[in-house]
Amino acid sequence: MEIKIQRSMRKTLALQVRNSQIIVKAPMFVTKKIILDFIDKHKSWIERKITNQQKSVIDIEKIDEYKKLAKKILPMRVEQLANRFWYNYKSIKINSAKTRWGSCTSQKNLNFTFRLVLTPPEIIDYVICHELAHLKEMNHSKAFRNEVEKMDKNYKKHDRWLKDNWDLYVF
Ligand SMILES: [Zn+2]
Repeated sequence: MEIKIQRSMRKTLALQVRNSQIIVKAPMFVTKKIILDFIDKHKSWIERKITNQQKSVIDIEKIDEYKKLAKKILPMRVEQLANRFWYNYKSIKINSAKTRWGSCTSQKNLNFTFRLVLTPPEIIDYVICHELAHLKEMNHSKAFRNEVEKMDKNYKKHDRWLKDNWDLYVF
């Protein structure tokens, strides 16, 4: 596999995988041996990344369709869950974010990426519940996690799933 090393004034090593290419961001004076050991140590992570990127579920031609679907389905589901669990929110917006599934502002506005609509139903619900819980707790404290758990008993499993699979939903 092709390895690209980008040196800069940074202090730590970081890995990225894009188009089956490994990109290592490295401090100026780190030796090649340290970089190769670092790659070796993260071998299974790299392999999983490559497989996920190759299986991406996003078909670029269909982005408009996904967005339309997301605008129809997500607000409906948010309303259902907010009613069921007694939450009040102001508005909901669908965006194209790649690095976050959803967010919640202090003005009680909820945002979700259209990509969410392509994940399994229990994951959609989990992300919605996570953002609803932020309406009460604007952090990831114990109180916040309790709030999420009231709505989704399997929230830890779903959170894990998102961390393992998010790269299937970017392109
Ligand atoms: Zn959060």
